[in-house]
Amino acid sequence: MSKITIPNQIIRALWLLEKEGFPAYIVGGSLRDALLGKSPHDWDVTTPALPDRMLEIFTAAGHATIPTGLAHGTVTVLIDHAPIECTTYRVDGEYTDARHPDSVRFTDRIADDLARRDFTVNAMACRLPHIAKWNENELALSQGLTVSVDELEIVDLYGGREDLARGVIRCVGDPATRLTEDALRILRGVRFCVQLGFSPDPATEQALFDCRAGLSHISAERIATELTRTLACPLPCADGLRLMSRTGLWQYVLPEIENNNISKYFDNEESLFNAVDTLPNRPELRLALLLCGTDAKGAKAACGRLKLSNKTTDAVSAYVGAIDRPCPKTDANVRRYLAALGVHAEGALCVAAACHAKEKANYETALARADLIRARGDCLAICDLAVDGSMLMSELGLRGREVGEMLARLLDVVLEDETKNEKEILLRIAGET
Ligand code: ATP
Ligand code: MG
Repeated sequence: MSKITIPNQIIRALWLLEKEGFPAYIVGGSLRDALLGKSPHDWDVTTPALPDRMLEIFTAAGHATIPTGLAHGTVTVLIDHAPIECTTYRVDGEYTDARHPDSVRFTDRIADDLARRDFTVNAMACRLPHIAKWNENELALSQGLTVSVDELEIVDLYGGREDLARGVIRCVGDPATRLTEDALRILRGVRFCVQLGFSPDPATEQALFDCRAGLSHISAERIATELTRTLACPLPCADGLRLMSRTGLWQYVLPEIENNNISKYFDNEESLFNAVDTLPNRPELRLALLLCGTDAKGAKAACGRLKLSNKTTDAVSAYVGAIDRPCPKTDANVRRYLAALGVHAEGALCVAAACHAKEKANYETALARADLIRARGDCLAICDLAVDGSMLMSELGLRGREVGEMLARLLDVVLEDETKNEKEILLRIAGET
């Protein structure tokens, strides 16, 4: 019989509300994940209590609160440092911007609240039936509460549990209506397919395609967040990438995939997407591979359009820019590669390995060599040389630009042969040059 474990803090939030006569439900993604036996990364609570009333109840019980989104009914309560989002049941008004409801209205029926949620697996709620009668002692649990699912009062009006069991992502209500209201749901749908290893219901997949133009109203940051989360999934993501192709989403997410030349490395999109799954689930690696048909400049532009951080942009463009560098096959060449690419070297080797499948073994050897070289502390930069600028000036009388040029030349010598990184040897070489 399946069981779910609910952390103490959540139990306490539910209890405080129920004790005051307000039904309090765990809802949405947290219940979905709990029913799947995963521990949810955040827990959401929904209740008919109005936001001001929730603030009163939690404050009276001595808990700090944050009025996160009072207008939308959301209050965050901090219980033992854990933030818990509690939202009043609500109904969304009209959507005219393909993203936000023009207004929200509170309601006292949970069914109305569940109807506004995106997918059936996200539109369930559960309640602990007798919690209002518990006393403080019963709450003083240390490991959270593990309850059998049968003991919960589950509200599942749209077949969410069945879809969980079948592995299906299906819109609540008419898919085209729901994806037109808020086009971000299109990318959330793809992400949930990948995160859960699910498939879209056929009518929902059709609507992903039919409603795709709505994505042009979604901000770049939101698109980037969903893409990044999809690529970061530990489960294989190739099916999700194929789903994006079938439903014509790349045009809005990463048009480079359609417009650029991937054929240099891959026979078709299918093999590109399969190659993505050979990489670790680090979004910057996977994104770089998806951008292999561009160059460093194109990758930088794509990251800029998605408003990704400078750190991610630098990494992705370094990886893409290095795809055509020859695979380094000797210690000296691996050192040169590490010196040229710095912190991006290992990532660049991984991306290049995924692009040049025939050379995979060589790239793996290069990565192993890189590990050894780093562990040994071989000299990889001018600052690691056994001589510095002031020595070159005092011992050899070099001046100005000559100093920098000589240091660069000496680094080259040492990258070739690490045993030459000795003060006397380098000064002799510098003196002879
Ligand atoms: P995750 O936290 O892994 O992204 P989640 O399902 O918990 O998954 P949240 O963004 O935390 O997603 O939202 C919590 C719940 O709110 C969802 O499960 C869903 O019921 C509802 N929800 C969130 N965003 C939307 C949306 N754009 N349209 C409709 N319902 C939504
Ligand atoms: Mg969530």
